[in-house]
Amino acid sequence: MRAQIIDGKAVAAAVKVEVASGVRALRRSPGLATVLVGDDPASRVYVSGKRRDAEEVGMVSIHHQLPADISQEKLLELIAALNDDAKVDGILVQLPLPNGLDPEAAVNAIEPGKDADGLHPQNLGRLVLNQPGLRPCTPSGVMRLLDHYEVATRGQRAVIVGRSFLVGRPLALLLGARGSDATVTVAHSQTREIAELTRTADIVVAAIGSPRFLTAEMIKPGATVIDVGVNRLEDRLVGDVDFEAVAEVASAITPVPGGVGPMTRAMLLVNTLTAARTR
Ligand code: NAP
Repeated sequence: MRAQIIDGKAVAAAVKVEVASGVRALRRSPGLATVLVGDDPASRVYVSGKRRDAEEVGMVSIHHQLPADISQEKLLELIAALNDDAKVDGILVQLPLPNGLDPEAAVNAIEPGKDADGLHPQNLGRLVLNQPGLRPCTPSGVMRLLDHYEVATRGQRAVIVGRSFLVGRPLALLLGARGSDATVTVAHSQTREIAELTRTADIVVAAIGSPRFLTAEMIKPGATVIDVGVNRLEDRLVGDVDFEAVAEVASAITPVPGGVGPMTRAMLLVNTLTAARTR
């Protein structure tokens, strides 16, 4: 039987409707500041999508385009000014930054309460401690998808392939947190016999950056498969999962595009609204 398609586009649209209603209830328009350094075409597309999303839900998009050769000092000055700007509720510095700029210093400079991406050490620390805070967008988007499709996590075995601070590690914390209660294994490039691990999993998440890495033989029949990967091949985007073959084995699966990607964008809006409410 073919797996159910987990429709990230549809769930993201529902999240946006919720956020728009939250914005109306605030009676002021939250401001989302985006900072784009240089002219990487993919980053440009990502940022313009995020700005459009913000405007669609009634937020004010405040954009700063900086030249690739800007100094670290100037970048940090801009972030400090956005931290102090009362019209700005959320700040997003689009990564990766051009060579010569320190992304860690940039993220650390963002006021944690305005950290729309949820990547500031204080917010990641709150996640470890299971305290309220702004959560990283992609992992919280994955949790929202699982919740929406009523995929059980309690007592389930989850295997995440990829241990980045952006996706794999925070997602492991969310899935394993009290309330979600999955038992989580995180695999990475040094893990031996990954297929043996993934074959034991009720939920498999691929966040690697390697086209069609996860094949049907690596999946237990009936598992839920979440594909975070985005890989640009010559003519199209593909995920880290061999979608067509895995869909014949899994019970539910996210497509690429149209799965996790739209959720990442939607959760940025959720974080900006949360930040505005908290301020
Ligand atoms: P990353 O920082 O490059 O991390 C990749 C992870 O995969 C690392 O932990 C790495 O292991 C592991 N890995 C690499 N090759 C492997 C292999 N052969 N076997 C097992 N593990 C392997 O990437 P990321 O930022 O997490 O992103 C991962 C993918 O998700 C990318 O395709 C990215 O474009 C995509 N992404 C999508 C969204 C979205 O919204 N859809 C958001 C963020 C990222 P080591 O730690 O040992 O190097």
